[in-house]
Amino acid sequence: MKILFVASECAPFVKTGGLADVIGAVPKALVPLGVEARVMLPAYPALGTLVAGATIVWEAGDVLGGPARVMSCQAEGIDLLLLDAPHLFDRPGNIYLGADGQDWPDNAQRFAALSSVAARISTAGLAGWKPDLVHAHDWQAGLVPAYLRQHGGPVPPSVLTIHNIAFQGLFDPSLMTPLGLSSALYTSEGMEFFGRIGFLKAGIAFADRITTVSPTYAREVLQPEFGMGLEGLLKARSADLTGILNGIDLDVWNPETDTALVSSYSAKSLKKKAKNREEIIRRFDLDAGRPGPIFCVISRLTTQKGLDLLLDALPALVARGAKLAVLGSGDKALEAGYMAAAQRNPGAVGVIVGYDEPLSHLMQGGSDAILIPSRFEPCGLTQLYGLRYGTIPVVARTGGLADTVIDANEAALTSKCATGVQFSPVTAATLEQAIHRTCDLYEQPATWAGMMRRGMRHPVGWDVSAQAYKDIYTSVLDASTSQE
Ligand code: ADP
Repeated sequence: MKILFVASECAPFVKTGGLADVIGAVPKALVPLGVEARVMLPAYPALGTLVAGATIVWEAGDVLGGPARVMSCQAEGIDLLLLDAPHLFDRPGNIYLGADGQDWPDNAQRFAALSSVAARISTAGLAGWKPDLVHAHDWQAGLVPAYLRQHGGPVPPSVLTIHNIAFQGLFDPSLMTPLGLSSALYTSEGMEFFGRIGFLKAGIAFADRITTVSPTYAREVLQPEFGMGLEGLLKARSADLTGILNGIDLDVWNPETDTALVSSYSAKSLKKKAKNREEIIRRFDLDAGRPGPIFCVISRLTTQKGLDLLLDALPALVARGAKLAVLGSGDKALEAGYMAAAQRNPGAVGVIVGYDEPLSHLMQGGSDAILIPSRFEPCGLTQLYGLRYGTIPVVARTGGLADTVIDANEAALTSKCATGVQFSPVTAATLEQAIHRTCDLYEQPATWAGMMRRGMRHPVGWDVSAQAYKDIYTSVLDASTSQE
């Protein structure tokens, strides 16, 4: 079975969030199941060395304003197809945003090009390789099913995965013709979203199947509070919608082998975690004399992640004698809020604004608990890393957080199945209570160590979910063959 993945990020080559981790992990997890996946992504400057050693497998003189080619190579165990279109992707900085922090003005053209070339490749094939099915991810690849729909001839079926419905790729309708899209697709059942072109909506409307990244989020997006205006279309397509929980790459996120740690450890040698903890205290300028746990945050700093609520709950955390280490960037007001909190609370709150992959590993290795107070969370990966590293997840009960953490309520503690702390509804007051509850647990060393060990044993790999993706591919392919 041959699958073409189409996405805008793939770890470890280019990453702004969880999407990259998933795209970097699923193709590898599918190999033992007999699925041959190739990942198509833009050839951003960060991928320059890969492009230099790659083979040209497709070329066109004009793709939305300039020449483009597709380069094939293998790296980190992944088969890559890189869309090299310098007029769209050869620019410095963030892959989505210009230096002014605003979306690149031609993001519609950039990701329409990715989708359109993916659709062309998947219908015509490349030398010796033609996918049986295309798997598009998020709004950046949302037009793939639309381009396939208008193709006319036989096309492979498509699956769309929604990693976050809040990012929809909305653009001016005057772009339909310039992007090579038929006006017949611009309807309210199709890709029109309140007077604009919706790239994600196009994917939802025209893909054969839709998945999202946790069972709870698959139910939540059918509700107006979470559906972001797409709940109606999703309800209409609910028979084709499945929630498949994300896993993590167990080779990359392994406390026994992680080279970003000062001291590696396992569930059998938890004491060795202490060296990493000392390093976090040093790096974040925390006061080792404070008796409480080290909570960490590794996140985009946004209101989606509930990090405004944590600022409100911070005085309680500090008063309780706990410590907080924050690594993140995003919303400027939140960045300023956390920097000010660190200044106000020396030794109790340490903040590093930025994006630092090795430090994120060290924080999982050296913190006691990880705070994830998200208002919504399609799956969330940092709680899974927390489980694997014996760093107790303290999470809002929503989306994938609800599906992966077992709350330390009395019953769960008695039956020894608790792995973390959940709270709901998501408010500063309930977050404060969750912080207190976590500190109470931390003061009971045997209970705490039991939760750490249990979390570290909790299955967080891709085995089950990779099989679930394969089952979806099989059922889509069976359905499309029976229609022929
Ligand atoms: P989202 O994709 O919504 O941002 P996820 O929890 O699914 O959230 O994935 C976030 C990923 O990005 C995780 O791998 C996390 O470790 C990483 N990450 C987030 N912020 C930072 C940061 N400032 N530095 C390093 N890694 C980060």
